[in-house]
Amino acid sequence: MAKRKSKKRKQELILKLVIVVVLILISYFGYEFTQGANFFDVINNAVASLSTSNRQQVERKIVNGVMEVHTIDVGQADSILVMQEDQVMLVDCGTRAKGSTVVNYLKQLGIDKIDVLVGTHFHDDHIGGMAEVIRNFEIGTLYTPNNLEEEITTYWYLDFLDVVDEKNVNWVFPEVGTSFSIGDANVQIIAPNAKKYKNMNNYSIVLMVTYGESDILLMGDAENLSEEEIMNNGLFIDADVIKLGHHGSDTSSSEKFLKEVNPQYAIISAGKGNTYHHPTKTVMERLKKLGIVVYRTDESGTIIMTTNGNNISFNVEAGDYLSGDKLN
Ligand SMILES: [Zn+2]
Repeated sequence: MAKRKSKKRKQELILKLVIVVVLILISYFGYEFTQGANFFDVINNAVASLSTSNRQQVERKIVNGVMEVHTIDVGQADSILVMQEDQVMLVDCGTRAKGSTVVNYLKQLGIDKIDVLVGTHFHDDHIGGMAEVIRNFEIGTLYTPNNLEEEITTYWYLDFLDVVDEKNVNWVFPEVGTSFSIGDANVQIIAPNAKKYKNMNNYSIVLMVTYGESDILLMGDAENLSEEEIMNNGLFIDADVIKLGHHGSDTSSSEKFLKEVNPQYAIISAGKGNTYHHPTKTVMERLKKLGIVVYRTDESGTIIMTTNGNNISFNVEAGDYLSGDKLN
């Protein structure tokens, strides 16, 4: 009898211990859950903050005599890092769950300041990870489109507003035609060309990045309507490389627009097995027909493009022209 009693007491003790641990976890993460973050985001961020705080200082990578454009593999999302001399521009930060991937990528290059941070438009797969990025780096200037009156109440957006406010980030809504420099590279704002759109994607900030004779056009998720406006605004859009709009969706990259830009290479940021089947068959066949060489994160992971101002090279082999649903 005595033995059974002590066993029962032991079980009760274990049960009490489990309840205490669960209560502690609920009170620790509960606030985040009530604000709409999902379980995986919360765990991911907790692990990331532990791992980043333990990391030792890495020597800063300086890019001399060339410009590098890193299309970071963030799955079905965008995050593009431009490096020239000792300056960097980061265009988009992936989803909220991928914020830590972007932070770690920049930290392993020894980066502690982002001179220009661009949020192309207020969708989770572009700005979801931005709060975590802003928390981890000094920010020179933040550029986003000026459509803050849109009804966005998601956790990542409110968190983004909080941290921008907390760190008193210099936040600018850029006008088309304005430009700035990243080292010796020049960056010009090409879109959005209108004040109001029905579709969030068309608010995308589109950037022309020029280093020497090399031009790369970063499209965000701009769709056909924005492409039409870009062709009409009279700015220079001939480019060697285009980061395709909207992950290779056929809402973007019209044949007319691609012919006007006339790129040699296209970069596609898409997640392997993504439910949208990006990039689409229509777009891939169009690229093939026009002889545009493709590089895609769903095949190659992170893609690093390097130019000395004349010659352009990539760290991975060119991809194929299979659509997203065929590849996976
Ligand atoms: Zn997107």
